[in-house]
Parts: sequence; structure tokens; C-alpha cells
Amino acid sequence: MGKVKKNLSSLVEIPRTRTGRKKPMCGRCYVHGVEVVLEGHKKYCKFQYCKCVGCYIFLAEQRVAADKIARKRASDLNKVKKISHAEVSIFLFSRHKI
Ligand SMILES: [Zn+2]
Ligand SMILES: [Zn+2]
Repeated sequence: MGKVKKNLSSLVEIPRTRTGRKKPMCGRCYVHGVEVVLEGHKKYCKFQYCKCVGCYIFLAEQRVAADKIARKRASDLNKVKKISHAEVSIFLFSRHKI
């Protein structure tokens, strides 16, 4: 039975990175049910100033994701260069501003 279970789990396993979007789509348009390739579209997005709940949630999620990446990078930097905590927070702050 142990073997069967192992087989099943490898079948069920979801390849997250593989199923990731090949072309980045516009998240804001996606919120509104429109699928638009993000490339060269950002400036012309008709929802770029939209303040609906969907866009708000999308932006919040994007911010969290960006923050996670920034933190991961900062911790990686910390491992490699052994920079101080103060430097890390400055790094995060300046990234946040951009
Ligand atoms: Zn758009
Ligand atoms: Zn919206």
C-alpha cells in the first residue's frame, strides 16, 4: 500500500512553476475579465487608475508578493555579505518607494 500511496502523490503533485503563465498578463484587466498581454500595455491599460475592490485586492496581493521577494533578496544578501539589519531595512524601504 505504501508504494501505491507514493505513486499517487507524485501523480497528484502540482508543478507550480511549470504551470506559471508563459506571458505575463495584465492583472488589472484580468480583474475585469479581460485578458491582455502585459507587454507594452501597462501605459495604455484602461484600468490603470481603477479603484474598484478587485483592483485593490490585486494591488495588495502584488505588493505582498513584491515584499516577499524583497525580503528574500535581502535575506540572501544578508547571508552572502552579512550586512546589518539596519542596512536591510534601508534596502527594503528604498525598494518600497520605487
Ligand atoms: Zn490592463
Ligand atoms: Zn478595477
